[in-house]
Amino acid sequence: MISDRYGRSFSNLRISLTAACNYACTYCVPDGKRLMPARAELEATEVLRAVDLMIATTGIDKVRLTGGEPLLSPKFDDLMPDLMQRPLRDVSLTTNGQLLDRKADLIIDSGLKRINVSLDTLDPERFRAIARSGDLATVQRGIDRMLDAGISVKLNMVPLRSANRDQVLPMLDYALSNGMELRYIELMKMGHLQHDPRFERDFLGMDELLDIIGSRHAFTRTDAPFDSTAVRFAVESGGTFGIIANESEPFCSSCTRLRLSSNGRLYGCLSSAKSHDIRDLLTLDDEQARERLKDVLGMALADKQPLHFTGEVTVMKFIGG
Ligand code: SAM
Repeated sequence: MISDRYGRSFSNLRISLTAACNYACTYCVPDGKRLMPARAELEATEVLRAVDLMIATTGIDKVRLTGGEPLLSPKFDDLMPDLMQRPLRDVSLTTNGQLLDRKADLIIDSGLKRINVSLDTLDPERFRAIARSGDLATVQRGIDRMLDAGISVKLNMVPLRSANRDQVLPMLDYALSNGMELRYIELMKMGHLQHDPRFERDFLGMDELLDIIGSRHAFTRTDAPFDSTAVRFAVESGGTFGIIANESEPFCSSCTRLRLSSNGRLYGCLSSAKSHDIRDLLTLDDEQARERLKDVLGMALADKQPLHFTGEVTVMKFIGG
């Protein structure tokens, strides 16, 4: 296994199935733009080949499908059943949930055990203002289908001072009363936010979140696994929540994540624009492909920031959030 001087290696692969998205969230893309889907995206068979090579070469044992919006891509339907047959400890999915109800049978039949649904508010109008698209009730119907099937659901919320600060408690109550874990994701300086005063205006950090939550719930901080991105809390009356504290408590020193973009490039770090094309090596025979991949992974590992997330012009949806 390849590891760096901080003891980090890659065990966790996030695959962006497509850069296309049916939302245009204000914090993800500028000015309502749905950025164009990346040209020349990998086929489902190429994605599976990449997964097989990474399992063999690096000890990747966790895979998350993301995007863009992964459920928008026909590749999801082709790939999901096969991916579930791979020798992986964990397979998961991050989705905005808009197509969850429609894809529910496929997801349930594939045997997927857990998903993350991104949801920033329970107010239908505010929902459309943030996502610039979509329908809240449709997302909630999809969530209910997953819960009814016994699939574990985590909710991802990006708290924004100007748009959904008043949703911090309602979202937590919704999650707790439905047996879900809510994870607040601190706003990250990605894409257009890298040089935009809206980042400072909208950033809502862990201390303030805990103050808001503490006004209603008693909670204690719990231990999280070494490579967990979330700081986790147990609520005294039952249930848990997490904060992905990119700014307040950066977790770069224990990051084991590797990202594969929809156009076949590997990213070792969200905070670096550097990427490495692996499309060509996918066609080599196994031995040659593994040798080449080892070199590429060494370079991707060297791209990781030592400690702190510094931001990057790369848009999250291109490299998989
Ligand atoms: N379409 C899927 C979804 O909405 O879950 C997957 C892709 S989306 C880019 C993955 C996650 O990244 C979402 O939870 C989204 O809220 C988050 N995200 C996007 N831009 C972000 C930013 N600047 N800061 C923090 N989170 C961000």
